[in-house]
Amino acid sequence: MNISPIKSTGSLEKIIRKDDKIFMENIDVLLNHQYDIHMRIEPQENLIAVVAIDKRSPHPTAFGGTRLSHYSSLSDGIKDAQKLAHAMTYKALFANLPFAGGKVVLFKPPHPIDRESYFSTFGRYIESLNGKMITGCDSGVTQDDMRITAMHTKFISPVVNEGEFDGLSWITALGVRHSMIAGIKFKFNKNEITGLRILIQGIGKVGKFLAKHLKDHGAQVTIADINMKDAIQFAKKYDLEVINPNHIFQREYDILSPCAIGGVVNNKTLSNLKCSIICGAANNVLASPDMDERLHRNGILYIPDFAANVGGAVFAGMNYLGKSLQCAENWIKDNLQNKITEILQYSQKYNIPTEQSVKYLIEKQI
Ligand code: NAD
Repeated sequence: MNISPIKSTGSLEKIIRKDDKIFMENIDVLLNHQYDIHMRIEPQENLIAVVAIDKRSPHPTAFGGTRLSHYSSLSDGIKDAQKLAHAMTYKALFANLPFAGGKVVLFKPPHPIDRESYFSTFGRYIESLNGKMITGCDSGVTQDDMRITAMHTKFISPVVNEGEFDGLSWITALGVRHSMIAGIKFKFNKNEITGLRILIQGIGKVGKFLAKHLKDHGAQVTIADINMKDAIQFAKKYDLEVINPNHIFQREYDILSPCAIGGVVNNKTLSNLKCSIICGAANNVLASPDMDERLHRNGILYIPDFAANVGGAVFAGMNYLGKSLQCAENWIKDNLQNKITEILQYSQKYNIPTEQSVKYLIEKQI
């Protein structure tokens, strides 16, 4: 691990000092052999960047988004980067992308940042890794940020929107819909979404596209978002039902589609789930690994998140390799349902939960 010297002053110190002792105590745990960790601290920009690269993949170059987020400590940020890089390994192997799993975590400084100079510095840092890590947009980072970054490094997949159209979110939603169809065929022996009751939690970039896709295909779509005003407006426009986000576990649905936050299936919510299938865009839907087994025992079909939301990664990866959105769309349409069906059949055949099944199938490739 490579840490540049910490010069004094600035809000940066608040993050580092707070955690320094704990961080140093846990360093052995954090720096295990599974990950390469690179770290850059630039006091002038208040930039702390951690790059985690999962070393288990057969591919030398890592790929994964850049996330700008609040972390309470350095070790929290490193752990998050490792966890997300690990998930990215599965995603890349699942989608046959020629990359190892990686993730960049940027520690959100306590004060507003000058994004131009922050992301220029960040771009130079990514460039200095000489292609070990290819990155792109993730939560907390905008396309404008990535445009600035891309001026300083070629190791980036700056998926650029055409006008208002957000291809990354659109294709993620397309992938979620195809994953749902695979689940519906498997669970209900039906080819159609028509008439199914689907609740979308989170009507943001992906949720909006998904709601439109599903409504157009005849589903009874209900939406819930903490931003009630936006949700009500959207529901009116597309003739959808909208409910209070605190009430989502009070009703029965055929499909619950988490498209907001992780950890939706947890010890508290598990016994309240009244749905047959869970399939959405959110990452880390299961709060802990045992939720996979418990959903399986409860007869709820869980489509693993990194498979259901793979569309974004497919597009970003292909984009870096010079391929178009159309190529990514073709990949989703030609492959995703079959790949999901393979997981579900494996899970049924050996009576093991779906996330364990997909991990087992993928690990066979490593
Ligand atoms: P977004 O930020 O545009 O939308 C998230 C929405 O969820 C917001 O409208 C927010 O108000 C709402 N929300 C937050 N907490 C909520 C809660 N507790 N209950 C109900 N609603 C809540 O995000 P997005 O780009 O649409 O992504 C959605 C999820 O999918 C995220 O978990 C993201 O990591 C994942 N994902 C996104 C993409 C992509 O291309 N955008 C790709 C893969 C995975």
